Amino acid sequence: MIDNAISISNLTARYGKNIALQDINIDVKEGEFLALIGPNGGGKSTLIKAVLGLASYEGKIEIFGQKKIDDVGYVPQISAAEKKFPISVLEVVLSGLHQKTLNPFSKYSQTQKNTAMETLERLGIEKLADRQIDELSGGEFQKTLLCRALLSKPKILLLDEPTANIDPSSAKNIYELLKELNKTITIVMATHDLFAVSDGVTRLACLNKTLVYHGEPQLTLDTMDKLYGCPVDLIAHGIPHRVLGHHGENE
Ligand code: ADP
Ligand code: MG
Repeated sequence: MIDNAISISNLTARYGKNIALQDINIDVKEGEFLALIGPNGGGKSTLIKAVLGLASYEGKIEIFGQKKIDDVGYVPQISAAEKKFPISVLEVVLSGLHQKTLNPFSKYSQTQKNTAMETLERLGIEKLADRQIDELSGGEFQKTLLCRALLSKPKILLLDEPTANIDPSSAKNIYELLKELNKTITIVMATHDLFAVSDGVTRLACLNKTLVYHGEPQLTLDTMDKLYGCPVDLIAHGIPHRVLGHHGENE
């Protein structure tokens, strides 16, 4: 039997009177690569934060059948402004050992530093170890955050818009890395980059306050309409055929 890596039942999340997520039921099986898509404000970040225990909610969330949040790596969405912090790549990665803080003054053992260097090598950015983060490109910074999340060897990786504000070729590179990582790690990635869903993603969940669709990484016009209310506009921007199925037959 395949275990559920994440099991979400009857999840409702509010900010004051505003309901961000309503009655969400979704299971993520071990080994899946789930893309969470939906419009801005659709609740993607809130869902990820609820899983991490960073947002309050009603309902039940279990990680490998348990209430505790072990084995989960998190790549938050970080704005360019937050890159102005005076800290090196290696220090950011090492801060993954105590996920909640980004403290450049902590002391780390040689073994911990070696593990961090190995993780940087795995993602091909070991040469950047001593670089200050404000001197990194968007893609390099995302890889640094990915290394940080991987340092504690999580079984589940949650990523919030890992390709926001980075160029298409860096984004492609990140998707290739994630596809490779997915051989051993369950992945949930929030994105509004619809091209991402055609590469490596095994399941799709579409969120617009409610769960509009959950299934194969293939979208129908009906789902797109419920999700964005503007299928025509989206087609004009060019969606890969694998993502947007053929609809002509039934109409
Ligand atoms: P997404 O990540 O899909 O863009 P979010 O989860 O950030 O969506 O937001 C879902 C809804 O919750 C939106 O209506 C947003 O305005 C609201 N929201 C998100 N974060 C907060 C917050 N910290 N305080 C109040 N409202 C919030
Ligand atoms: Mg978000």
